[in-house]
Amino acid sequence: MFTLRNVVQPDTLPEAYKILREKKSNTILGGCAWLRMGSQIIHTGVDLTKLGLNYINNCTGHIEIGAMATLRELETHQALQEYCGGVVPQAVSNIIGVQFRNVATAGASVFSRYGFSDLLTILLVLDTEIELYDGGLMGLAEFMDRPRTKDILTKIIIHKTERRAAYQALRNSASDYPVLTAAVSRLGAEWQIAVGARPTKARLALEAAKLLPGGDLTVAVMEQAAQAAATELPFGDNMRGSAEYRQAMCQVLVKRAIAEVAACK
Ligand SMILES: Cc1cc2nc3c(=O)[nH]c(=O)nc-3n(C[C@H](O)[C@H](O)[C@H](O)COP(=O)(O)OP(=O)(O)OC[C@H]3O[C@@H](n4cnc5c(N)ncnc54)[C@H](O)[C@@H]3O)c2cc1C
Repeated sequence: MFTLRNVVQPDTLPEAYKILREKKSNTILGGCAWLRMGSQIIHTGVDLTKLGLNYINNCTGHIEIGAMATLRELETHQALQEYCGGVVPQAVSNIIGVQFRNVATAGASVFSRYGFSDLLTILLVLDTEIELYDGGLMGLAEFMDRPRTKDILTKIIIHKTERRAAYQALRNSASDYPVLTAAVSRLGAEWQIAVGARPTKARLALEAAKLLPGGDLTVAVMEQAAQAAATELPFGDNMRGSAEYRQAMCQVLVKRAIAEVAACK
């Protein structure tokens, strides 16, 4: 269990950021579901609950998700259930259980860039931007490649398009961390493929996506793109699966997701 020496609830973001930067061990508190698994000693925990970041807004052209929105709120919000066939709610619905998802926050899930993240895998194929208090607005893929810094993720923005998307995850048992995650989306002739839990963080398979045409797809083309994704991305071992197993499963999950998107009207 982690230790908190002090907790503050700042009224403004500049104040929260200032306190975060004051000491190396000062830490932002989301739902604390992840933090409580560790044994960190935190000088000051910066609780964001007074900053009005617990919201999901369905705006014209985009959906805005405040950092303190919970995974359960992502799962049950009408705009997210309706957008892209509810692929975001589907992606988070297997994370532990409802009580857990009522606590874990979207901001922490994205900012922490966990390798096993279901949420990051689906957001990568959905025209997603994130806003950092200090770092500003940037595309999610760019954020994923940036070095880790002390900052505060304030919101996640999903730009609404005519994109179609599908999500696949493989777990050894329900509520366990995924062995592999895959997401595919299509906007006209442009396809995106993301694979996560490799076991490192989710990445786009850019070259494999280029093999997918704008028109109708044959099974052979789907298989070719899925195989290319499994070759393009690196895979590793952990207690849930070997690199070879992940690479083989990548072909299966990516092909299924492509087929699902291709079938969307
Ligand atoms: C047992 C367990 C199993 C899990 N299984 C899965 C799974 O299968 N799939 C999956 O996708 N996820 C899984 N997760 C991760 C989970 O979904 C959340 O991503 C995780 O719990 C972090 O959310 P939190 O609100 O609890 O963060 P916290 O524990 O509060 O914080 C985690 C980290 O994020 C930082 N942080 C929090 N909010 C912000 C912010 N706004 N800006 C900057 N930094 C911030 C904190 O300082 C801390 O370093 C699991 C977590 C646990 C504990």
